[in-house]
Amino acid sequence: MPDYDFCITGAGCAGLSLLVRILSTPPLQKKKILLVDSHTKKDNDRTWCFWEKGEGYFENLVHRRWSSLQFHDGHQSRLLDTAPYIYKMIRGIDFYTYCFRFIQQFDNVVHLHGKVESLHSDAACTCAVIDGRKITAGRIFNSIPSPAPAAGRHWLLLQHFRGWVIRSLRPVFTPQQGTIMDFRTTQQYGTSFFYVLPHSPTEALVECTFFTDSLLPDMTYTHLLTRYISKVLRITDYVILEREEGVIPMSTATYPHSQHRIHHIGAAAGLTKPSTGYTFKNIQRDCAAIVRSLANNNEPSRKHTSPRFRLYDRIMLNVLVTKKLSGQHLFSSLFTHTHPADLLAFLDETSTPSQDWRIIRSLPKAPFLRAMLGELFQPGPGYIPVRPSRDPLPTHTVCSEE
Ligand SMILES: Cc1cc2nc3c(=O)[nH]c(=O)nc-3n(C[C@H](O)[C@H](O)[C@H](O)COP(=O)(O)OP(=O)(O)OC[C@H]3O[C@@H](n4cnc5c(N)ncnc54)[C@H](O)[C@@H]3O)c2cc1C
Repeated sequence: MPDYDFCITGAGCAGLSLLVRILSTPPLQKKKILLVDSHTKKDNDRTWCFWEKGEGYFENLVHRRWSSLQFHDGHQSRLLDTAPYIYKMIRGIDFYTYCFRFIQQFDNVVHLHGKVESLHSDAACTCAVIDGRKITAGRIFNSIPSPAPAAGRHWLLLQHFRGWVIRSLRPVFTPQQGTIMDFRTTQQYGTSFFYVLPHSPTEALVECTFFTDSLLPDMTYTHLLTRYISKVLRITDYVILEREEGVIPMSTATYPHSQHRIHHIGAAAGLTKPSTGYTFKNIQRDCAAIVRSLANNNEPSRKHTSPRFRLYDRIMLNVLVTKKLSGQHLFSSLFTHTHPADLLAFLDETSTPSQDWRIIRSLPKAPFLRAMLGELFQPGPGYIPVRPSRDPLPTHTVCSEE
């Protein structure tokens, strides 16, 4: 008998979303489960934004909602009505606190603070080594990304950002109105924009974001944030209440969902949308599907991104990485020439072929046609060559034997 029915490695967005759903599902809620993370998750280390129609699974945790979003490309501005979608924000700390409180009610769950060093699964045994100690489990749900480079040829851009929650002395923000992209900033480092998500007339998260192949010195982010707040938002007297920073790899690499009885979840399963970096909603959809199949005693069933949306992502990244078109020009075409509901459905991978066609029509023809032909017929020169993952496995890489 394994020590646990399930072991969940990583208590971040995916690990906790899955565990809360498992514990809320009667046929599964008595399973013996180990949750392990090397971090205590007591900080507000990130905020998750996403859009959806109506209410979502973690609706009670939504911190702010916006029903209209501004887009500025430097020459023109557009106010987008997001209906039927609502743009929402969940603060990491609220999510962690809620999930840990919920989990505490179940004495069949062990929450361990420890470092996962390796995972292993074969016909005989599925196990994790945590701080040098081996535990066995019926299944492992792993959200710890492998540090080994992804195999195969793919595009990779880094989405890196720094943000401040600021409080202005004067009321300057319209709370119902966010700014999803503001290109009124230098493009000298590559695709670069700001977003502004107001919490009240005096408070907002202001974040500068880049889609480039390398990070920038600390000073640059600080300089650009300070400049944007004073010159574009015209706020002179403010205090910084919170800081956020992060890097999200935007990659068209494919990741295995399962290796024997190790099932990857979250960003480790490649659930980050390559062309936008949004991941939260994909994680929720995936966790819901896993729990549904487990409750029916089936192997975890996962939805793979359809070939159509994979191709769109590859074309978008091809255009951005090879600079066939600047990010400013690309997003300006998308945000100023399309209906917001079509665009949000398209980016959410729920659009119909006719919505897709309306989006495609809005884009400059030549660069996208060249990128599409490259993706369909010449998977070669334009691709970033990446070593196949034959590297020695670093300490917490997942290995499996079929
Ligand atoms: C700052 C930031 C902001 C983001 N904002 C958005 C957003 O607005 N919208 C959106 O859709 N996506 C966003 N993302 C992307 C994505 O949604 C998040 O990264 C999300 O947290 C991914 O969930 P996850 O469970 O896969 O990974 P994580 O939430 O990162 O969880 C992985 C967990 O594994 C633990 N861990 C790592 N190594 C080990 C080890 N060896 N042993 C034990 N534990 C380990 C970590 O401590 C962590 O708790 C953001 C990402 C960042 C970094």
